[in-house]
Amino acid sequence: MNTTYDIAIIGLGPAGSVLARLLSKEFKIIAIDKKNDLENGFQKPCGGLLSSDAQKVFARFDMTIPKSILVDPQIFSVKTMDENNKLIRYYQRFYININRHKFDLWLKSIIPSNVHIYNNSNCTNIEKIDTGYKVTFSENGKKQTIITKYLVGADGANSIVRRTIYPNKKIRTYMAIQQWFSEEHETPFYSCIFDDEITDCCSWSISKDNHFIFGGAYPIDNSKEKFEKQKKNLIKQGFKFGKLLKTEACLVLRPSKYSDFCCGKNNAFLIGESAGFISPSSLEGISSAIISAEYLSKVLNSYSKNPNKKYRQKTLKLRLKIFLKLFKCPFMYNPILRKIVLKSKINSIDVRKIENDF
Ligand SMILES: Cc1cc2nc3c(=O)[nH]c(=O)nc-3n(C[C@H](O)[C@H](O)[C@H](O)COP(=O)(O)OP(=O)(O)OC[C@H]3O[C@@H](n4cnc5c(N)ncnc54)[C@H](O)[C@@H]3O)c2cc1C
Repeated sequence: MNTTYDIAIIGLGPAGSVLARLLSKEFKIIAIDKKNDLENGFQKPCGGLLSSDAQKVFARFDMTIPKSILVDPQIFSVKTMDENNKLIRYYQRFYININRHKFDLWLKSIIPSNVHIYNNSNCTNIEKIDTGYKVTFSENGKKQTIITKYLVGADGANSIVRRTIYPNKKIRTYMAIQQWFSEEHETPFYSCIFDDEITDCCSWSISKDNHFIFGGAYPIDNSKEKFEKQKKNLIKQGFKFGKLLKTEACLVLRPSKYSDFCCGKNNAFLIGESAGFISPSSLEGISSAIISAEYLSKVLNSYSKNPNKKYRQKTLKLRLKIFLKLFKCPFMYNPILRKIVLKSKINSIDVRKIENDF
């Protein structure tokens, strides 16, 4: 016999974990997640930078972040490298540099015990039935099926929930590739790299706990070749790629129009990146994941008669906020406009290299 739940959450990244934490204890809830609760197993590739927007959400929840999640060092500027115009500028940033996997595990660890969590579990099939949804998943390779009234897709860019309920939906998607190296730079830094010949999105590097992470979002075709070519180009710019420790890759969404956002239908809901809630300019998505989870928790906890409509209404401001970031994109991604912005030096800071001072 299949076990029946009120709510099934697929995926426990920031969106799913925050939702699981905020839902009323009156619901019978199951959460199915690929990650296990250990340091090993599936890890979400990420730059691990907590933006001011994300920090503000934690402040609103009266939540603090344990020190164990922070990494060394904290960096206060981004080195913006325009490879097309051969320009470099530094801009102040207020990010918190974190260990993304530890952050995800911490968010999972504070989910109340009434939520039935299935770790190391992969949701493989979703079927619409009269009473809701039939969800099939494999836990440590063992196949299981449950029935749920409400289904929540919190399963990120390649969401099986989104692909099931919107089979024809195509959101602009890139292949994100990141490699971890031993750190060999004298001064750790955070960079954002624009190079039109490699990708019409961006690349980045960040230092974390004596590791140097280099990554980028590339058009899916030939992504690996483009990644390798960019690494070669950057060696000429002084990048030092030490011993290769890890390579990771995943899809990343980059909404390009308002209709890309999809909130769900028929008692199925999408939160976080599965809904397309990620900044098209910076690929920052943790704050929107948490905010959309909060909105959905409010809708479900209020036993709304038409929860899909209510959730769509609640996310309107968030969708508009992300949509408006599309207007910022040309000033970052169009080489001519970017040149004007960088040449103007507006908001940039002059970085004093100590060796130049003596
Ligand atoms: C390379 C890269 C760097 C990024 N850097 C930053 C950054 O520095 N700062 C920032 O704010 N944003 C960053 N982002 C964006 C950010 O990672 C996402 O927008 C954010 O994680 C979305 O949260 P989420 O909870 O919606 O989805 P996710 O974090 O993707 O979590 C979804 C979870 O669902 C689970 N899952 C997926 N499929 C299944 C399945 N079939 N069955 C069971 N479980 C499943 C997985 O465990 C996964 O962890 C980056 C993205 C990428 C790709």
